[in-house]
Amino acid sequence: MDFGIRGKRALVCAASRGLGRGCAEALAEAGVELVINARGAEVLEATAQALRDAHDVPVTAVAADITSEAGRAEVLGAAGAVDILVTNAGGPPPGMWTDWERADFVAALDANMLTPIALMQALVPGMMERGWGRVVNITSQSVKAPIPVLGLSNSARAGLTGFVAGTSRQVAEKGVTINNLLPGIHDTDRATALDEGVAEREGISAEAARRRREATIPVRRYGTAAEFGAVCAFLCSAQAGFIVGQNVLHDGGGVNATI
Ligand code: NAP
Repeated sequence: MDFGIRGKRALVCAASRGLGRGCAEALAEAGVELVINARGAEVLEATAQALRDAHDVPVTAVAADITSEAGRAEVLGAAGAVDILVTNAGGPPPGMWTDWERADFVAALDANMLTPIALMQALVPGMMERGWGRVVNITSQSVKAPIPVLGLSNSARAGLTGFVAGTSRQVAEKGVTINNLLPGIHDTDRATALDEGVAEREGISAEAARRRREATIPVRRYGTAAEFGAVCAFLCSAQAGFIVGQNVLHDGGGVNATI
């Protein structure tokens, strides 16, 4: 399927590995010119080169912490006017609700709520002026069904979801869509780290922790970054212009809900 976005320009944040990289790959495959970001310069540059080699599109790599004001300024400066924005950053650590202090909440809100909002505030006005734009925020299935040990994530992502629900309806008439893409469990470094945490706490192997989690997913496996990226590229496509303010689950049926 031709997504109708060949030659558009996208900023994909936190994209050297995992789900962000999956989104960057799928957009590159659709012919989109990319600006990608992550903190670690070496892995980021290797990813940028792999994308150039595989898809023959221009890729600019900006090594910076997207959750810091200085990092965002650097990334936005390099990105300039973009047609597509994919927001992403590392998720907050797991823990116990009684242990978190104000600083932990502020850090989580900064990374997973206020950073995507700041990026939208910077880039969506230009999209509206030009009459076309797509924003996809990578959030989490925890927006639909809370994951108790990820209370910081549950809190921050709920805030972002509320912002998008209203704002997406304010910008849609200018041809700009904003949607959230909600990953369930995917085979990335983040999932491996969470499995290792469970293994350590419960005295079982990481493999056993993974098998146990896979058994909770109706498809009985973790999702892949490539599958996730393909859905992201569709939400950024010309064909997806009537999808506004949605929270699209990509979870192998993991969230047990009727709607
Ligand atoms: P991942 O495999 O650990 O990859 C994270 C990517 O983000 C890396 O490229 C990392 O590179 C970059 N990154 C992290 N913090 C950053 C920052 N402050 N500034 C810029 N880049 C940053 O993680 P993932 O599994 O793809 O997860 C992506 C998001 O989806 C996270 O918010 C996660 O909580 C959420 N999520 C994931 C799953 C899952 O099963 N994988 C499920 C639900 C939600 P550097 O470390 O070099 O910066």
